[in-house]
Amino acid sequence: MELKTTVIAFICPGCGETIVRDINIFSLSGGCDIDCDCGETLNIKVTQNRKVVLSVPCLACPEYHTIRLSSASFFDRELFTVQCPYTALDICYIGHRDKVEKAVSDNKKYLEETFSANKNGEIERDILQEMYDKYDNPMVMNDILLIIRDYITDGAVECGCDNTDKLRIDIARDRVVLACNGCGKSKEIRALTENDVTYMAELDKIVLK
Ligand SMILES: [Zn+2]
Ligand SMILES: [Zn+2]
Ligand SMILES: [Zn+2]
Repeated sequence: MELKTTVIAFICPGCGETIVRDINIFSLSGGCDIDCDCGETLNIKVTQNRKVVLSVPCLACPEYHTIRLSSASFFDRELFTVQCPYTALDICYIGHRDKVEKAVSDNKKYLEETFSANKNGEIERDILQEMYDKYDNPMVMNDILLIIRDYITDGAVECGCDNTDKLRIDIARDRVVLACNGCGKSKEIRALTENDVTYMAELDKIVLK
């Protein structure tokens, strides 16, 4: 039997180094940390239902971006790219070694150009300002929305009926309400801190009440 492995690469926001690691299904079981020498960490957890949850430090904004992948996507995709949702910069690659290495070297050049052009950060500030007008913590809100969509896509939202196509998402400044139009059940999901993101990412399913 072939041992499932993948390569993960991220650019450390602490020191600018590119960290590349091989991950196999055994080193992943129970989760793991990929540490940079400077103290920055990319954290990987595995949920009970075999979802891989990554918390990736972002070099473009001061947050960690949390993504949730099936273990099939984590191990079988040739190349999966994690982007910062505010700057659209690539911050992490997962996949086959040759594809990841090529993506890293292509991205390096792009980053150097972008960062010297945006040294004063004005472009990022404008995008962020627009988001801050709408949400208390736009980065967290964005992660929460992505994660909720993932549960919906997986059919991992439980309510009082067969909720296919009946789910509704209402977004406020600091929270999201996920509700079912079929049976009227709902759940309020806080979207203020990184802890809210981690909590949501590690559930097996969302249960509406
Ligand atoms: Zn570092
Ligand atoms: Zn970011
Ligand atoms: Zn329902």
